[in-house]
Amino acid sequence: MTKGQVEQTVAGGRDSGIADVDYLLSHFPGAVSVYDADLKLIAANEQHWELTEIPRADFGPGATYEDIVRYIAKRGGYGEDVDVEATVAERMLAVRQDHWKFERVQRGRHIAGYTATTPSGGVICCQQDVTEEKETEQRLIALTKELGSARDLAEAANKAKSEFLAMMSHEIRTPLNGIIGMSELLSARATDSTQKTHLDVILKSGHALLAIINDVLDLSRIEAGRLDLQARPFNLRAEVEEVATLLGSRIEKSDVDLVVRYNPSLPDWYVGDATRIRQLLVNLVGNALKFTHEGHVLLDVDGAVENGRTSLTVSVRDTGIGIPEEHQNAIFERFEQAGSGSTRRYGGAGLGLAICRHLVEAMQGKIDVESEVGKGSRFWFSVRLNHAEGEAEATPDLTGTRALLLDDIAANCDAMAELLRHCGAEVDVIDNVPEATALAMFAAASERPYDFIILDCHLPGVEALASGAWVRGRRPPVVALSTAAAGKPVDGMDRYAACLLKPLRRSALLTAVGGVRPRTPARVA
Ligand code: ADP
Repeated sequence: MTKGQVEQTVAGGRDSGIADVDYLLSHFPGAVSVYDADLKLIAANEQHWELTEIPRADFGPGATYEDIVRYIAKRGGYGEDVDVEATVAERMLAVRQDHWKFERVQRGRHIAGYTATTPSGGVICCQQDVTEEKETEQRLIALTKELGSARDLAEAANKAKSEFLAMMSHEIRTPLNGIIGMSELLSARATDSTQKTHLDVILKSGHALLAIINDVLDLSRIEAGRLDLQARPFNLRAEVEEVATLLGSRIEKSDVDLVVRYNPSLPDWYVGDATRIRQLLVNLVGNALKFTHEGHVLLDVDGAVENGRTSLTVSVRDTGIGIPEEHQNAIFERFEQAGSGSTRRYGGAGLGLAICRHLVEAMQGKIDVESEVGKGSRFWFSVRLNHAEGEAEATPDLTGTRALLLDDIAANCDAMAELLRHCGAEVDVIDNVPEATALAMFAAASERPYDFIILDCHLPGVEALASGAWVRGRRPPVVALSTAAAGKPVDGMDRYAACLLKPLRRSALLTAVGGVRPRTPARVA
């Protein structure tokens, strides 16, 4: 029951009969005493006598509020050693205010109350024992204080840790960069192969150490809540291709190809943090290359365009060792690796994916993995980015041209074919030299010969196809694809119209074939 309701009910009760007032008072959840306009007690409920511990015989109906207050003051109900008459005078003034709130301590119990003036000029006084609420409040205040100081301590410790890490990693990185730089110089000039091998070990170890220090610094920055994401226009395709070129040039295993596929219908320019997106790509593609011994790694950018932005899904699929199901969640935690032999065999500190998870979550995205041991893994993250204005790369019109693509890595052919078809070309894809040669010969003898051929120049037996011995008359231009890791120069370069390095860049491919025009039908050989 609200205070207003009590007042109304009590006022009404007086008019409609004392029985109603008694009923109300006895059912009220607290001590209530009612005074007339001269501040003489009219009525009080049982709870009033119990709570105030005032002798009912001396201070029953007719007793004045002043006498009651004086009695309580003398008993120490407003505090020990108070000036009794001053307290009485104070309270006599206060009680005349409408809605006066007060608190007092009675034998260690906290009593809270308020008074209200009735329409006839009297006063209703309600009081309650609030000792338990007070104690809970005190406990809460103490707890909040404790929590506050624990939080302050933790924040200070975290800040100190981050500052220490930032300082240490700076102190470690400076000399380390010196070691790496000098080793690179020495390695470039070394003529003695043993010395070169030793220097390369120093270099590799230096780079590995640098990567770990960078990861530790990044993680501490993230944990200290100091990860600030930029929102600037950037060219996503350029970032993707640069990462692929950088990591592709470091592939030492000749049996592994890195392939990039960027959905040709997607825009290139977005608003976001290019550095952090690049970091994600480097981590995921770097891992995929590290854990793949043969086959390929496909960096695939796909998405759905909607109202000025794209829901992007960037996935990195590999044909590597795979990850057991029971480790697939844990690897996104820091210092977690799938299997205990991982550090020994592959190096790393288990921080890269934890950083990736934090970065993607900071971009309000999602990251996950699907994997099968022995078959490979697919790591993917999805983020929504707004489109930005930027210089668009020219797209040549290849309508009416016909192309033959030959590569034993289907993902590579598919990515190229998709791009060329997007430019209007008609494309055939084949994964082996004999069939490719047969197709080329057949087409040359038909109404629709190939206007250009793109082939992996390291495939065994490809020379004959490249030389054009199978066609009489003018052979179509042949573009060679090569990998840095193949380690050998391309034989018979003069056979090729152009030689492109894998992973292929869109611009390199389109420049190589951009000038091609549909040919008139070749003469039958
Ligand atoms: P690390 O620096 O150890 O590679 P990460 O956090 O990047 O740390 O990866 C954690 C672990 O997840 C790796 O040690 C490895 O066991 C597993 N892992 C990550 N990527 C792959 C992948 N493409 N194929 C197989 N295992 C992977």
